[in-house]
Amino acid sequence: MENPDAYRAGKDLVEVEWRQNHRNYYSSFSLRFYQENDMPLLTGWFPSQSGGDEIRESQTDAFSNPIPWQLTWVQWFALQNVLAESDLPAYRKPSSDSYDEVDSEIRIVWRTDDGDEAQTLSGSYAEALEALVLGIAEEAYAASKLETEQREVRETAELVEIYWEQNASFARDCFSFLLDERTLPSRAEKQMLFSYRYQDGDGKPIFRKNAAVEPEKAQAYFSSIGQELRALELPVYPGACPDGVVDSYLAATWQDSGEVFTNNYCGEGAQSIFHLLAAFAEETEAGIFSRPAPDGGWKCPECGMPNGSSVFCAECGIRRPAEE
Ligand SMILES: [Zn+2]
Repeated sequence: MENPDAYRAGKDLVEVEWRQNHRNYYSSFSLRFYQENDMPLLTGWFPSQSGGDEIRESQTDAFSNPIPWQLTWVQWFALQNVLAESDLPAYRKPSSDSYDEVDSEIRIVWRTDDGDEAQTLSGSYAEALEALVLGIAEEAYAASKLETEQREVRETAELVEIYWEQNASFARDCFSFLLDERTLPSRAEKQMLFSYRYQDGDGKPIFRKNAAVEPEKAQAYFSSIGQELRALELPVYPGACPDGVVDSYLAATWQDSGEVFTNNYCGEGAQSIFHLLAAFAEETEAGIFSRPAPDGGWKCPECGMPNGSSVFCAECGIRRPAEE
């Protein structure tokens, strides 16, 4: 990512995490600035900077993935440049008998020509930096609240990500689906991942998190779901949803001529999309169970899950049977 504003001091900001514990709760915060898929992002919590005594906290989705606030590159480079020029002392933990002292730790990772370099600095007397960081956090929070309008989905737009969470009084009407391309912490490259939680036709709960799926298969489903979304013309969420018994939040991310945008729909009445996602989940489940057990592994006699060297089945938890 080349940016004309980039600071050229021989190092680039990779991530920064700032945790501050203060006797006054409203001077405490915990924030992490990082990048994912070439986007600058922020997670954590902090006291409202626009009056009031609210605590702003980033959320997680139904599969416990963080939902970060998005930053602009202007905000990211402002932070990077101020950090690069700051002259903060090294962090030291306050002694346990000084209850008044602020515990403020800033962990920074820089990328230099010689690899990554970590710093742990004290934020106790960094008022200007604190004001900048909390200001950026408040702006990112406010920007996240503005996305209440739907953008027009042109014929050239392609669906690239879908998240749907529905809560209702009957368990069989509750479900969550997430299909998107992401990088897992354990691997370097991006993968197409599918997470789902729903009840199948027999009322059996199906749950899987981050199943890797073939990009071509995901593409085919994205295409069908995109067609349905265009045809259904679902109302915007929240706002115009019918007064039903369910809360149905469907976020669809589209890509059109290099531009990416997310529309939030009220998913009530999108039964055809549920059937498509459930069919893909079924196909994914079948693929997982039909894999042969790896060398030294075992196929669970109870549920059919291929397991590695683990003692207990990763799927149903029964103990590996003794060898014959
Ligand atoms: Zn099993």
